[in-house]
Amino acid sequence: MSLTGMQIFKYLPAAKKLEHTNCKECGCPTCMAFALKLAKQQIQIEKCQYAPEELVSQFKEASKIQQHEIKLSENCTVGGETVMFRHEKTFVNPTAFFVALDGDSADFDEKFEKIKNYSIERVGEAFKIDGIYLKGKNAAAAQKIKDAGFAVIDSDAHFLVKGENIDELADNCTQKLKNGDKNLVLNPNIRNMTAAQAIEMFTQIRRLAILERFEPMTFPVMAEIENCTDIYKTCALASMLICRYASIIVFNCFNEALFAALFTLRQNIYTNPQKPLQVESKVYEFNDPDENSVVLMTTNFALTYFAVAGELEAMPFGSYLVVTPSDGMSVLTAWSADKFNAEIVAKMLKKVDLASKIKTRKIIIPGLLAHMKEELEEALPEWEIVVGTIEAFGLYDFIKNNSLN
Ligand code: SF4
Repeated sequence: MSLTGMQIFKYLPAAKKLEHTNCKECGCPTCMAFALKLAKQQIQIEKCQYAPEELVSQFKEASKIQQHEIKLSENCTVGGETVMFRHEKTFVNPTAFFVALDGDSADFDEKFEKIKNYSIERVGEAFKIDGIYLKGKNAAAAQKIKDAGFAVIDSDAHFLVKGENIDELADNCTQKLKNGDKNLVLNPNIRNMTAAQAIEMFTQIRRLAILERFEPMTFPVMAEIENCTDIYKTCALASMLICRYASIIVFNCFNEALFAALFTLRQNIYTNPQKPLQVESKVYEFNDPDENSVVLMTTNFALTYFAVAGELEAMPFGSYLVVTPSDGMSVLTAWSADKFNAEIVAKMLKKVDLASKIKTRKIIIPGLLAHMKEELEEALPEWEIVVGTIEAFGLYDFIKNNSLN
């Protein structure tokens, strides 16, 4: 529940013209000021002793935790989610990827080394496997994992709440809570379930946590994908679990291609939809460009930038990329929101003063903005506007075929 200031105000003495109207006992000058502060969670409801029970109970309900946040290592925190759908606000802590290893196995060191050395970069962020799900009772192996900065979950860890279905999970969790256990992780057994059954169960757990605030379900949830022999099926199931609603996924395999795909999906799901990933707006240089090098232009949406930058880096000649400020919007979105227009582009080129540093006078704009050619030519009389490709991967051929380098 989340009430606006006006909705709260309607319950208070001032709105109902009752005794104690604007009495200031809460420390606020008026009931309205109190309502606005309360809506922003800057004051507690208890500060007004004249708030009716109906409002107080709504706030008590709202203050119950929806999902506990649990720190598994310095770099790995799970849970803490507050919404069912990413677009409502944002998802908070990315699904953690754990690989199952047997600490007593002869090839433990070899397998762990591979995992330790694996990392992948996507849109300016570096990703590594988050932790190891350790089978067997090997304290030295557990210490080695921790020393390397990875989270470790012992397969028999007391904080794992096991269960075949939601009722069993709820009973077992309630028992652990009664015993004073905290920082629990729900660990439903999905071994014999179809993907649809597993997703249905995870969705039900999330609903009970977020919408019902049913305490035994308010903990991060872990899924173990036991059979990883078919990498495509594993990828499909893990992808569904990232979206709905696994806090941790344990894989009984380590496959670099699989994780490359899953990290990419995870990054997309766990970025804040209200804050698009963006790069600094400036001129980027690739492969030591000189005064005759090709010039391109795009917006500061990170995905667009890295797609173009990847192509420019791979080219056997130097280039400049002018990145305009567009609040992290992709080219068409920026154009439709008036964040990429002739005025902004002209201002940007003036600011970086590229024309005084190089001889090149042609600038390649994204193919999606072909309709802006004339408008840009008017605003940038010094420059010839060349409409480039729609996709970044066609840039090399385009530049070669048009003798632009
Ligand atoms: Fe209004 Fe309650 Fe604050 Fe008095 S204590 S000013 S009634 S909100």
